[in-house]
Amino acid sequence: MSSIPGAYKPLIVSPSRIKDASRCMRYWAFCKLGRLPREETEPLRDGQAAHSVAENYLRHGTVPDVTSKYGRWVLGGIEQQLLPKPKTCLVEFGRNMPFEFDGLPYTAITDFIHLESRTKGDHKFVSARGADFALTPETLLTDVQACLNVLAPPVFPETWLRWIYYPKSGKTKPFAVDAKTTPEAAAATLRRVALPVVQEMHTYHKLFAGVHEGDRVDLCQAIPCDSTQCFEFNRPCDYSPTCKR
Ligand code: SF4
Repeated sequence: MSSIPGAYKPLIVSPSRIKDASRCMRYWAFCKLGRLPREETEPLRDGQAAHSVAENYLRHGTVPDVTSKYGRWVLGGIEQQLLPKPKTCLVEFGRNMPFEFDGLPYTAITDFIHLESRTKGDHKFVSARGADFALTPETLLTDVQACLNVLAPPVFPETWLRWIYYPKSGKTKPFAVDAKTTPEAAAATLRRVALPVVQEMHTYHKLFAGVHEGDRVDLCQAIPCDSTQCFEFNRPCDYSPTCKR
């Protein structure tokens, strides 16, 4: 295996990558270390488009366009009075702002931060079935993304979390799941539920430092995998054709 010289770039871990690695370490590795692309799914495209409608509303007060499904979803949340008033929040905050926790670098974008009420919020655009699996106030407190959002600047002595669910179909109206926590509680949860996975991610990331581009996917095959996760969300893993199980 050949190596190329170059400075080592530390791994900066995000909530979604922790979720990937928790699902299957090799799944995360194919994407992050093997640099294999993933299919852009319809839910992902929907989520991105709807997030930008919500962002424009909160940042600029732009009323959602009801001729688009994205506008209708967000308007549903506004009508239910689940969102803060426009121009009262930091919006999509934290991009390109890595922060350190327990000596390791993380990144976490918070969809909105209402400073006055110390609320950090997230938009979740979900299928009718997905709404049935929404977090509860209890499980929100153990959610890795929520914990990282709590620990990302600005850090408050107490943080309200508001996860807004927008069902994309069905009869369920948008609804919010709220919980209150502290940085200490979020840190303890993160250490318990995510730290072992994050440390493993760093170990593999270091192993790949200097590995030649053409060898990276082959090296991923040596990373432990979990074949119970190959059909998560009822669709085959993007890397099924590549993965040697
Ligand atoms: S195909 Fe299965 S085992 Fe292989 S990377 Fe994907 S989830 Fe993991």
